[in-house]
Amino acid sequence: MRAMVLHKPGAPLRLEMLPDLEPGPGEIRVRVGACGVCRTDLHVLDGELPDIVYPIIPGHEIVGYVDRIGTGVTMHQLGARVGIPWLGHTCGHCPFCLRGMENLCDAPAFTGYTRHGGYATHAVADASYAFPIEGAGDDVAIAPLLCAGLIGWRSLVMAGEAERLGLYGFGAAGHIVAQVARWQGRQIYAFTRRDDRSAQDLALQLGASWAGAADERPDVDLDAAIIYAPAGELVPAALRAVRKGGRVVCAGIHMSDIPSFPYSLLWGERHVVSVANLTRQDGLDFLRIAREAQIRTHATAHPLSDANGVLARLRKGDILGAAVLVPDL
Ligand SMILES: [Zn+2]
Ligand SMILES: [Zn+2]
Repeated sequence: MRAMVLHKPGAPLRLEMLPDLEPGPGEIRVRVGACGVCRTDLHVLDGELPDIVYPIIPGHEIVGYVDRIGTGVTMHQLGARVGIPWLGHTCGHCPFCLRGMENLCDAPAFTGYTRHGGYATHAVADASYAFPIEGAGDDVAIAPLLCAGLIGWRSLVMAGEAERLGLYGFGAAGHIVAQVARWQGRQIYAFTRRDDRSAQDLALQLGASWAGAADERPDVDLDAAIIYAPAGELVPAALRAVRKGGRVVCAGIHMSDIPSFPYSLLWGERHVVSVANLTRQDGLDFLRIAREAQIRTHATAHPLSDANGVLARLRKGDILGAAVLVPDL
């Protein structure tokens, strides 16, 4: 198999030929059709997440076709299309797993971070954590649903009943969540990097009521805001923009430090919360909703071997919508 491999923090990924992975008991192997590129992959590359064991193959938005099945697997058939998300395994017996909060498991495994991911021609997954992907739709368009969509969905649920919803960062997650939120009848206020006209135009095309820079304010108070960009200064900015009792949801796995801010911004029963990972139920719920709401991702395909270039563009904010790697391109 071919894979783009990370050997140490800060190093470019290396294209390598590796022995084929074999699925163990309870696992499946897939031939990767497409794998989305997520901002979290940059945090893996930069060594900003703890406990990375090198070498590691990144990538956790995998659409693949089952081509080998380990012993004891009955839920997937050879040739079936599946999606492999960030949540790769949970222990099933820690206090969080027992309370239905497997996203907070004490001993989890994460695809493309603590187990090998999908920047490759093949990937192995725990069969219980792979979702069936039914129906039509090409692999490239579906891949961003598996993290940007899914964790975006969890953050939208966390935002509660908000009618006026701010989205800080309008990339892979923002452009999917905006469509779900519009389908639900909410109003969207999209905050982007200053002068990012293409992201602002995409937001307006997708039905946003307002689009502007993160330090600007629409002329209404927001009921809630979700922050996708990894910039801590957006937390006080979003608190300024939400009404009394409003919520600010931090949806990234890593964020720069939050600068100190006056207590008056939090006063008035405003909430700041974070969203961590996903549960399998989130995945099943969201994939159904994505079909019902007819979500269309703005996804562009790139050859697997271009992963470093694509990641560099993502870092610069130079990707409109979502970027996806394709082994056969
Ligand atoms: Zn657990
Ligand atoms: Zn992700």
